[in-house]
Amino acid sequence: MRICDLFQAKRPLFSFEFFPPKTDAGQASLEKTISELEELKPAYVSVTYGAGGSTRDRTIDLVGRIQQKGITAMAHLTCVGANRDEIAAVVSRLEQAGVKNIIALRGDPPDGATTFETTKGGFAYASELVAFLRERHADRFCVAGAGYPEGHVECRNLERDIFNLKKKVTAGVDFVVTQLFFDNQHYFDFVDRAHQAGINVPIVPGIMPILNVGQIERFTKMCGASIPDVLHRELDRHRNDPVAAQQLGTAYATAQCLDLLRRGAPGIHFYTLNQSAATRNILTALRATGSA
Ligand code: FAD
Repeated sequence: MRICDLFQAKRPLFSFEFFPPKTDAGQASLEKTISELEELKPAYVSVTYGAGGSTRDRTIDLVGRIQQKGITAMAHLTCVGANRDEIAAVVSRLEQAGVKNIIALRGDPPDGATTFETTKGGFAYASELVAFLRERHADRFCVAGAGYPEGHVECRNLERDIFNLKKKVTAGVDFVVTQLFFDNQHYFDFVDRAHQAGINVPIVPGIMPILNVGQIERFTKMCGASIPDVLHRELDRHRNDPVAAQQLGTAYATAQCLDLLRRGAPGIHFYTLNQSAATRNILTALRATGSA
């Protein structure tokens, strides 16, 4: 199933993001997480592509297995460390595995590097990867792209970042999934800027339920998202109490999702970090209110 066709029903789409585990224990735990979250009937699940393309084979394997379970799957694919032929080979493997959805990304620099280097014969921007997918595969894949409500870390000029997003959408992006954020106003302002720039594809907010204070501080620093002061102060109080921090994170994300859906967001993409409890509790609460 192509995800872009699911948007036609005009009902909010809920999706879960996983990363391919490195160990057998991680794999076993992810299988459990997937079966627990499968009960919530997500519209689709996505599998990340490790920094520097480091998880290529594990991503293809996992996304193919999920697809074969009958769950619509989306593969993340980046331009890091690969030329066109290598990327074409990955896409062929995904197609053979029955995957029909790809989120086309430029990717972050590999561990240890601070700037993105274009591989010889590869792509400098996600928009080039999107154009490549469209040129070779026409509409056989539904293609998503990433968006940044607070601006991408390398482009803090919000208007220029939207201008670049427009190029990516024009190249063939069917829908946008956003980076995580904790202040919904960033999302709504981003959607307004996108509409003003003539971007009319669905823009799905990406929500990360906070599981751990130190971890969310690292993630937000890396991706350039901000934590509102009032939330940060509360998190600080629970720095040494992971259970309370997670309860706060779940409550905060539930309130965020309710507001997003009430104000017209076309769905929610949950960054699950391979844990089921928080996402399950949030989505169950949303369903109980009739919002999902
Ligand atoms: P692009 O759209 O290419 O943008 C990168 C930068 O270049 C931006 O600053 C943009 O403004 C600028 N730019 C774009 N086009 C042009 C142009 N023509 N001229 C000048 N400047 C331009 N990373 C991974 O490694 N693996 C993953 O699985 C992964 N999944 C992600 C999923 C989501 C939903 C999101 C939001 C991010 C994900 N990332 C992942 C992180 C992503 O790879 C990084 O944020 C990366 O730095 C940018 O990727 P992009 O696809 O947004 O790049």
